[in-house]
Amino acid sequence: MVKKIKVKTTIVEMDGDEMTRVMWQMVKDKLLFPYLDMNIDYYDLHVKHRDDTDDQVTVDAARAIMKYGVGIKCATITPNEDRVKEYKLKKAWKSPNGTIRAMLDGTVFRKPILVNNIKPNVSSWKKPIIIGRHAYGDVYNNFEMLIPGAGKLEIVFTPQDGGKTQKILVNDFPAAGIIQINHNLDKSILNFAKACFTYALSEKIDLWFSTKDTISKVYDAGFREIFNREFETSWKEKFDKAGIEYFFTLIDDAVARVMKGEGGILWALKNYDGDVLSDMVASACGSLAMMTSVLVSPDGWFEYEAAHGTVQKHYYKHLKGEETSSNSMALIFAWSGGLRKRGEMDGTPEVIKFADKLEEAAIATVEGGIMTGDLLALAEKKPSNKKVNTEDFIDAIAASLQKKLK
Ligand code: NAP
Ligand code: MG
Repeated sequence: MVKKIKVKTTIVEMDGDEMTRVMWQMVKDKLLFPYLDMNIDYYDLHVKHRDDTDDQVTVDAARAIMKYGVGIKCATITPNEDRVKEYKLKKAWKSPNGTIRAMLDGTVFRKPILVNNIKPNVSSWKKPIIIGRHAYGDVYNNFEMLIPGAGKLEIVFTPQDGGKTQKILVNDFPAAGIIQINHNLDKSILNFAKACFTYALSEKIDLWFSTKDTISKVYDAGFREIFNREFETSWKEKFDKAGIEYFFTLIDDAVARVMKGEGGILWALKNYDGDVLSDMVASACGSLAMMTSVLVSPDGWFEYEAAHGTVQKHYYKHLKGEETSSNSMALIFAWSGGLRKRGEMDGTPEVIKFADKLEEAAIATVEGGIMTGDLLALAEKKPSNKKVNTEDFIDAIAASLQKKLK
């Protein structure tokens, strides 16, 4: 019997749906509870329970994260029409992630888990590239219009304070065309900047930010200015002390550098750029099951989860009693990430060390050739590679963890 490690402050746990709910329980039973003495504030975000509580449980969970600072979340169903029928729901409730993100005003950072037997498609990448995507504005909150024929497009701004109205000619259309108007809010950009600086410092990695500021001299340059001001006033000293850098560059230059670099950076991007480039980085790194995700609020609250969904297809197989080979890596890293952050906030190095060992055990298992089906397809071919089922994979990690903790 090992003496359990005490986690000082309450952990906010959010349970979820389908296959990830099945794996979640196994991870807790086999990898966490045997070693940790934790006080858990539990929120059941199972879709049926969200329905029963009129989604109040999601709101309560978000409030608990604001109270304690760290939450760890399982994947959840975002109901659509099919799900409303399947679970006999009152309505198609909003995405829990969306609700929590809005309440925390947070930014999502995605970080791939790298193992030495699955090589990123970009051969120079040695360390994870983390993408921070702004969650407001650009084309996602735009205004678009068909211009039917020749005519003037003008824009009018009427200040609320009774100041002078401005009317500006946008384009004198010689013939039919299309328009798109983007906007953003200084406050949203500032909160995005704060979340990026917070996360880079928390991970002790350089922060890159890139926009097309040479062409977009007001919109994109406005992002640059807000980031610069925030860095100079609130982060420069902390970054110097931690030995990390803030680096702004033109997006073209950033793309070229990232493709030749070794990774190990946080790359902050505007909404559209982040949407596109996060998919590029994720697909170059392999499986969705190896992508972790953390929501960071400008107030310094953290929510950890896997980037993937509830793995619905595997769950239906599981329900039929068929064997599944679902990958729990990202769920395990959601726990290790949350526990490490808790340890940092509480000043409990033994909790940080446990989080490190848990990650080492999980990585060592895959590198040792024991893996789930999704990884077997990506890993370097070796005769010793072995595909295991969902539970055996977690058991193998548990065995490795036990050795590391001795
Ligand atoms: P998904 O759960 O991410 O799964 C899509 C496919 O990716 C799976 O069918 C599987 O491929 C593969 N995959 C994902 N995670 C895996 C894992 N851990 N191990 C092995 N393979 C994995 O996406 P979905 O099926 O489109 O969505 C299912 C539900 O998840 C939806 O109701 C959606 O609302 C929800 N969702 C939740 C979140 C969240 O809570 N953060 C995010 C996205 C989606 P194969 O079938 O080829 O093996
Ligand atoms: Mg995308």
